[in-house]
Amino acid sequence: MSDLMFEVKGQRLPKPPGVTARGLADVKDDTLAAWVNGQAVDLDRPLLEGGQVQFLTFEDSQGRQVFRHSSAHLLAQAVKRLWPDAKLGTGPALEDGFYYDIWLADPLTESDLKRIEEMMQAIVQENHAIKRVEVSRDEALQLFQERHESFKQEIIEGIPEGSAISLYQQGEFVDLCSGPHLPRTGLIGALKLTQVSGAYWRGSETNPMMTRIYGTSFPDQARLERHLAQIEEAKLRDHRKLGAQLDLFTFHEESSGFAFWHPKGHVIYRILEDFSRRLQAARGYQEVSTPWIYRVGLWKKSGHWDHYRDDLFLIEREDELMGVKPMNCPGHCLLFKETTRSYRDLPWRLAEYSPLSRYERSGALHGLMRVRGFHQDDAHLFVRPDEIRQEMFGVLDLVDIVYRTFAMPYEVVLSTRPDDYMGELSLWDRAETELESVLRARSLKYQINPKDGAFYGPKLDVYAVDSLGRRWQCATVQLDFQMPEKFELEYIDQDGTAKRPVMIHRAILGSIERFLGILVEHYAGSFPIWLAPVQVKVLPITEKQHAYAYEIAKALSQSQIRVEVDDRNQKIQFKIREAQVAKVPEMLVVGGLEQENRSVSLRTREGGNVGVLPWAQYKEDLLMRAMPASD
Ligand SMILES: [Zn+2]
Ligand SMILES: [Zn+2]
Repeated sequence: MSDLMFEVKGQRLPKPPGVTARGLADVKDDTLAAWVNGQAVDLDRPLLEGGQVQFLTFEDSQGRQVFRHSSAHLLAQAVKRLWPDAKLGTGPALEDGFYYDIWLADPLTESDLKRIEEMMQAIVQENHAIKRVEVSRDEALQLFQERHESFKQEIIEGIPEGSAISLYQQGEFVDLCSGPHLPRTGLIGALKLTQVSGAYWRGSETNPMMTRIYGTSFPDQARLERHLAQIEEAKLRDHRKLGAQLDLFTFHEESSGFAFWHPKGHVIYRILEDFSRRLQAARGYQEVSTPWIYRVGLWKKSGHWDHYRDDLFLIEREDELMGVKPMNCPGHCLLFKETTRSYRDLPWRLAEYSPLSRYERSGALHGLMRVRGFHQDDAHLFVRPDEIRQEMFGVLDLVDIVYRTFAMPYEVVLSTRPDDYMGELSLWDRAETELESVLRARSLKYQINPKDGAFYGPKLDVYAVDSLGRRWQCATVQLDFQMPEKFELEYIDQDGTAKRPVMIHRAILGSIERFLGILVEHYAGSFPIWLAPVQVKVLPITEKQHAYAYEIAKALSQSQIRVEVDDRNQKIQFKIREAQVAKVPEMLVVGGLEQENRSVSLRTREGGNVGVLPWAQYKEDLLMRAMPASD
């Protein structure tokens, strides 16, 4: 047989079929699996086709997935050693760890978890090779029958007859699995079981209840500990907790999923909205306000009825059904259609900040992160096909400015055609190619998420990375060839003929409610001075300085600075501590001396005593520092 051609690290290597990825390069200890032609493959699996070969470590998300999924097998093996009657379900990798669904005769206790963890560590020590074995469907059925693994049998029965099935074996343990896996158990350097819950087999209430054991794992103890510390930190920063503590917002069960903004929270909310307004106005966006309730006919026309009906808040009056808008697009289409548009009117960039609602199930609600009522920095760009590129560039510029302002790095994911797509295939292909070429031209690092696009077009999702390293999907940019079609939108082109515009749906912050929730956790409530609800707190030491304190506060507030005076009859140390707990960025302590010299004693939130400054100088500096961000 002739050699296959492999491309490894830019080198072309001819090798006979059956060579393994390990056989193609000098594989280091931290290599977990190979990436061959876009698929993760075991390092020791014989390769029967040539192609591009890369190597995965824990730094790659696909590498982490192999690592965590192998940890799930380890968990199952440990449970089977401790409870031989346990029956295995399935055990996938998660973004930050893994779980395994296992049927157990008795519920697990806290000390059981400890025992499982210790057994997992023992199996790591034993350092078993993890081997792939291919068997026939009948052989697989027989093996799991002998092992009384009824759930595995059920899975195999669902696989078409005659299919080859792969098993993974480590020591005495065998699992049904398509892989890939780590080469040996010894690579799982650090692990922790984190949680236990119940889950019906295959998600159906008529099926047995399984015990779902969650865990996480890392190559070494230091990384595991850093991760666990981060989780603890995230709990401390929970925006619902900080939101109450800092008096920003609340929720009431009388209106689940809709935030009540308190004065301090609403200040931040408005700053975010105005920040977006200023950036967009400078880029030719025009703000409009359109209705929030429409006859369902409109939602049928836009396609929302078919795809989002369950998410619509519906109202019935005089035998007529109406829906509260979950997005602004159909309203903007109606605006577009009001007059004859010319090619000279395009691109037309319409921005809107009005309220939107989506019916989320009560179990899915989560503080500001998952709400029923929200507002977006929403905009629709009606463009000529030849303007797509330039407009996409403009939108990605905005994304960059906004996320740099909040010191958040970001990652871009391109989501392509879903199964329930609307419209012609050729339009989809064209839109997807266009988006990808813009990403490449901007040299943005991006991933492709197959089949995750909106039903009307492909989309770019921007994931902002917060100060704890967590990824949040915020901005979204969607190219849409369908809605202009459905609304029969037209413009008169240069040659006098009617043409169909293309629509770009985009939001940069996304839901402002959710973005604010993310910011609370990102900054742990210590907002930068331009966002802080109270920017400066004046703290008179005694009653004698009240007049001076109020004079300062009045001057600052006339310069649009958000300032408060703490004129309570309390010790100055107490006032300072309270201002720090309230995370006020700057405190001005004023006593007799400061009043006499017309100075202020400045302290910062971080606890530092900056010292005494002439009041006029402080004010001048502050006005520079406290300015709202802009580009
Ligand atoms: Zn597996
Ligand atoms: Zn839209």
